[in-house]
Amino acid sequence: MESKMDKIISLCKRRGFIFPGSEIYGGLANSWDYGPVGVELKNNIKQLWWKRFVQSRDDIVGIDASLIMNPKVWEASGHLATFNDPLVECKKCHSRFREDQIDNSKPCPNCGAKESFTEAHMFNLMLKTFLGPAEEAANVVYFRPETAQAMFVDFKNVLQTTRKKLPFGIAQIGKAFRNEITPGNFIFRTREFEQMEIEYFIKPPKKDEGWQEVFEMWRKEMMEWMKEVGIETEKVHELDVEKEKLAHYSKRTIDFEYEFPFGTKELYGLAYRTDFDLKNHAKASGEDLSYVDPETNEKIIPHVIEPTWGVDRTVLAVLCAAYDDSNPERLVLKLPYKLAPYKVAVFPLLKNKPELVSKAKEIYSDLRKDLMTVWDDRGNVGKRYYSQDEIGTPFCVTVDFDSLEDNAVTVRDRDTMKQERIKISELKNYLNGKLNS
Ligand code: ATP
Repeated sequence: MESKMDKIISLCKRRGFIFPGSEIYGGLANSWDYGPVGVELKNNIKQLWWKRFVQSRDDIVGIDASLIMNPKVWEASGHLATFNDPLVECKKCHSRFREDQIDNSKPCPNCGAKESFTEAHMFNLMLKTFLGPAEEAANVVYFRPETAQAMFVDFKNVLQTTRKKLPFGIAQIGKAFRNEITPGNFIFRTREFEQMEIEYFIKPPKKDEGWQEVFEMWRKEMMEWMKEVGIETEKVHELDVEKEKLAHYSKRTIDFEYEFPFGTKELYGLAYRTDFDLKNHAKASGEDLSYVDPETNEKIIPHVIEPTWGVDRTVLAVLCAAYDDSNPERLVLKLPYKLAPYKVAVFPLLKNKPELVSKAKEIYSDLRKDLMTVWDDRGNVGKRYYSQDEIGTPFCVTVDFDSLEDNAVTVRDRDTMKQERIKISELKNYLNGKLNS
């Protein structure tokens, strides 16, 4: 039987959410492209996040930094020295694995050879390239492995231009690159992915409670976010990362793990990065990255709480949560309205009746000025409902022969499957009311 994950991957391909990357050339291992409806879903997630955490808050501002930064950034941040995973290789088939993701005492998962693994050696995950025409050591640069560092490197400029007072945060959405040893599980682990991150700066805490309060605030915010995008919070588990496994910069980290169909794995993270980053960048760059406390005139280096969200893992969790094939008659993607690629579909009952088509086109053109609207005139209405359910369109509007007389249309609800007759003049208000409820 097809697993839930296989069904989701196949739906994504069939309906244009996510395709294998470079497919006509046989693909490129673990690269995926977002298709026409997938990009809408992903953009809706990013826009919702930006609105919630940047535009609606007085204490957070955004930036959009370069993907390739001065390599000195990665020296100061510790990534060049420590952003490593332990790599082992099977001596027989030469497959490579992350040592912490396999059981060393078991046979090779690829060829079944016993006791065939090499000793682990540390492998740096940063993706290297050259800037400029000469491929020489002096021109080596790295694609950023996280968006976070730009918030530290741009800290002074942001502070000077916004005059923000502590506590405040800098947010960014953008691509990050990691040369993962074992990518996989669809878009869960790829080498190119997107992150939504906030570096939230606070006064250096005198006691532990000073940062723990802010940490708690972000923990709640992250849970609220998951509720808003429809991720079942009962399937989210908080894992307090053990001291020995903490990243080099972290004093405390919580991983929010989600029950994906292939196992319970990290969805998001929340870390207390102390003043590690600003201090190191100040030292390495020679720039003063301190903040002057307006009350005491004291120069301080702020500490940082970092909530981080993977965009692609959000898309995957949202798809897993929304996927509903409990009714054998239909497959529905019960996406929150805000995330649905299309909010409404418009159909003429029959496509060979010009009077129906022209009335339906009028409605379609009017609705799409405000709402993502899709046109469908293929097959019969039942098939069109089925097709819209699969991509999560909340409402379908049908123009029939009665519409020509009573200036009303049938509106069908994705979740209840109920149909209501609504006056065309009321339609936009009706849909907006439902969509914003
Ligand atoms: P993992 O333990 O799964 O490798 P991580 O702890 O290294 O993840 P972070 O460095 O905390 O991840 O990155 C922040 C977020 O970015 C993660 O919570 C995840 O949502 C996302 N992310 C990290 N690596 C990848 C990847 N290779 N593909 C897709 N998303 C990723």
